[in-house]
Amino acid sequence: MALVGVLALQGSFNEHIAALKRLGVKGVEIRKPEQLLTVNSLIIPGGESTTMAKLAEYFNLFPALREFVQMGKPVWGTCAGLIFLADKAIGQKIGGQQLVGGLDCTVHRNFFGSQIQSFETELAVPELASKEGGPETFRGVFIRAPAILDVGPEVQVLADYPVPSDKVTSSDSSVEDKKENAEEENKVIVAVRQGNILATAFHPELTADTRWHSYFLKMGNVTGEEASSSGIVPAQV
Ligand code: GLN
Repeated sequence: MALVGVLALQGSFNEHIAALKRLGVKGVEIRKPEQLLTVNSLIIPGGESTTMAKLAEYFNLFPALREFVQMGKPVWGTCAGLIFLADKAIGQKIGGQQLVGGLDCTVHRNFFGSQIQSFETELAVPELASKEGGPETFRGVFIRAPAILDVGPEVQVLADYPVPSDKVTSSDSSVEDKKENAEEENKVIVAVRQGNILATAFHPELTADTRWHSYFLKMGNVTGEEASSSGIVPAQV
């Protein structure tokens, strides 16, 4: 059975492992640097990025994670995982948090506000529909979600989201300029790909739709026992 690493320090790693299992792929829990040597691709789950970063520091994972990304191995960050992969993160309480980096973008850590401002929405994702089939849209689950405010030239935008004014909250004056720009365009970026790096601001692992997992597996040429039968299958979480 094909193996995919899932960073298992905190957050929704079990849900990612369950989604991989539905595609016939084994998710391997990664907690130590040497465990990264056993896998060729890695998912960094959602959770709470400050806590996850503290644990990653404690386990001395940052150098190995950076090397993994720089070697060109497929890495997918969801939500807090996206924050980990961003070259630059802004937003409240960011103070000194380490990042893995590699993804040429600026992410706002809590763009959509706090837990109670979490929401679900249908996102148009043409790339996913054309590569994986299924509906034209994907159900995005946004939990204390970040958003990408700008991207470099190598970054392919896979999905954006028109921002309703009531979803934009900030008491952090350092980000106002960025937010104004985002509001002017009335949208923020919520899914991107840059070569071997995939990042989503939302949580595909909390839905029954495995198309993002299937898309990621193809980035690493991973074929699971059932990976070819991608699409919507009943959730087991
Ligand atoms: N905004 C959160 C953070 O800073 C991420 C939320 C999530 O992963 N659901 O870590």
